[in-house]
Amino acid sequence: MEEQIVCYGCGVAIQTENPEGLGYAPPSSLDKEAVICKRCFRLKHYNEIQDVSLTDDDFIRILNSIGQTQGLVVKIVDIFDFDGSWLPGLHRFVGNNKVLLVGNKVDLLPKSVKPNKVINWMKQAAKELGLKPEDVFLISADKGTGVKELAQAIEDYREEKDVYVVGCTNVGKSTFINRIIREFSGEEDVITTSQFPGTTLDMIDIPLDNGASLFDTPGIINRHQMAHFIDKKELKIISPKKEIKPKIFQLNEGQTLFFGGLARFDYVKGGRNSFTCYVSNDLYIHRTKLENADNVYKEHLGDLLQPPGKDVVESFPELVAHEFTIKEEKTDIVFSGLGWVTINEPGIKVVAHVPKGVGVMVRKSLI
Ligand code: GDP
Repeated sequence: MEEQIVCYGCGVAIQTENPEGLGYAPPSSLDKEAVICKRCFRLKHYNEIQDVSLTDDDFIRILNSIGQTQGLVVKIVDIFDFDGSWLPGLHRFVGNNKVLLVGNKVDLLPKSVKPNKVINWMKQAAKELGLKPEDVFLISADKGTGVKELAQAIEDYREEKDVYVVGCTNVGKSTFINRIIREFSGEEDVITTSQFPGTTLDMIDIPLDNGASLFDTPGIINRHQMAHFIDKKELKIISPKKEIKPKIFQLNEGQTLFFGGLARFDYVKGGRNSFTCYVSNDLYIHRTKLENADNVYKEHLGDLLQPPGKDVVESFPELVAHEFTIKEEKTDIVFSGLGWVTINEPGIKVVAHVPKGVGVMVRKSLI
């Protein structure tokens, strides 16, 4: 049987028959040493994403196969979108395998934040979500922070077995794997990385020195992420690139904050209070009166309130209201994929509006 050729960028099986299908590469490219699929080629050269359909069943199949083998599972979450990138149910699939939990993009958190506090927060959150990791790490795959320590821990915990790196799309899994490879072999950018969710398609097998492998599994698409409702340009605006500068608003009840046109935060009931917003520095926050908010949104979605831009306003889902009564001091209202608002005082009522389908939740303050 002929050996299956896989894409150098994303690991998908290469085929030469159907140019619109998954893993297509022109027949002439097969002579090359490293074959790359059309999708990765475009992504690499034009920063364009092509839609391909991968079913949830495929992901479940892959996760199941991990549970049936022995290995160390390295689960990566985006610390900026912890809940949105969590991958619920993973603990049911990993079987008896050990798990290391990794929070990526620590470079986005304000420098004043103590890493240990975040690590403890992650441990607590993991426990509540049913996962018992052996250890928790905070890294920046992009800047390299904490990667050496994590690589060492992987080496120690894997006990010569395979390693499976899992994570939802856009958590920075490819960036992390490229880092690790660079760390160990000196090779640059072996795997496709991109800002657009869903770019790593099949398991990539990276040999480790004792015959075991490090497997990069596909990013599981989490449909509750804001990223799926906006276009590429807009994703750039809401994805923070560098340290987030928290923005503090003193609000009276009856005031509203708009996060572009993507989300809305109403302060419904309580005394004068301060609210700290942790969102991309490039995202415009507009303050207005609650009584005017509906009209402002209707009239200014796509111009004053953007993203979404004018051209996608038509297809943008309507905002849905979620009401919260805050019971404890230091609570975050999280807009999945966009950021969060920290509320200091308990006993107040707020309403968070997000596009239909996007997750919004309340949690103990991360910071
Ligand atoms: P994957 O879908 O999980 O493989 O994610 P990628 O590696 O393609 O990264 C998704 C996006 O997150 C890209 O825009 C990366 O530049 C960005 N990213 C990855 N790691 C980090 C990090 O440590 N810090 C920051 N700020 N951004 C990161």
